[in-house]
Amino acid sequence: MPEGDTIFRTARSLRQWIGGREITGARSQRARVAPERLVGRTVEAVEARAKHLLIRLSSGDVVHTHMRMDGSWHVYSFGERWRKPGWQARLVLEAGDRVAVCFEAPVVELLGPGEEARHPALSRLGPDVLVDPLDLGEVRRRASTRPADLPVGVLLLDQQVVSGIGNIYRCESLFARRLHPSVPRSAVPDAELDLLVSTASRLMRSNLEASRGFGRDFGGGPDRPWVYGRAGRPCARCRTPIEAAMIGEEARQVWWCPACQPPPPRLSR
Ligand SMILES: [Zn+2]
Repeated sequence: MPEGDTIFRTARSLRQWIGGREITGARSQRARVAPERLVGRTVEAVEARAKHLLIRLSSGDVVHTHMRMDGSWHVYSFGERWRKPGWQARLVLEAGDRVAVCFEAPVVELLGPGEEARHPALSRLGPDVLVDPLDLGEVRRRASTRPADLPVGVLLLDQQVVSGIGNIYRCESLFARRLHPSVPRSAVPDAELDLLVSTASRLMRSNLEASRGFGRDFGGGPDRPWVYGRAGRPCARCRTPIEAAMIGEEARQVWWCPACQPPPPRLSR
């Protein structure tokens, strides 16, 4: 499952290798992308928004890919062996001495000028957690439109409230702020919501910037999580076994420490 920081890193890599270059070759399979609208265009920008990746072309067209669970972009040198089978490639872009390959993304499409603003998924996204400065006021405003009893653990994954926080950073930021994932949104004061979202942003940035794995001085990332994926193992802070459950309509697994993150009143756990 690509997290927001994975997509951000992918965008950075694509920007580095094909940014500012002309697309000299393009092929697509099972994708609504006509290669003739790509070849001869220059890659002007590459942006990550939540799990969406946008490649902006000099023609005003935008290549939109959404990674969902299995999608990924790889950049190879010409002639280099791909790390995934060719039949999984949905879009191949050649630029400079590089080949950028999008594997298995469920959404691969070309948006014409103006289509992005009308796109049902892109136009509704909340502020991106990795965009600096993060618009906390807008996150708060969007959060206030959600049901009062919505668990804060579900709120953090709502891409229309704040985009780009995946499951790892949802769990880790709740632990860092000592909030139980089932605490209702209305019981989280604005200032605490600001801190929670800022913490997710800080953890994701630290992970992006760490040269090797996650930040050396603290946990909270995919390499050394405090709670994520650690059901039954002792909390690094208090040694209480970490708990796990499914919450929300999408029933995503969430992990927490029952001692560091006490449950809200009227909940048994
Ligand atoms: Zn603990």
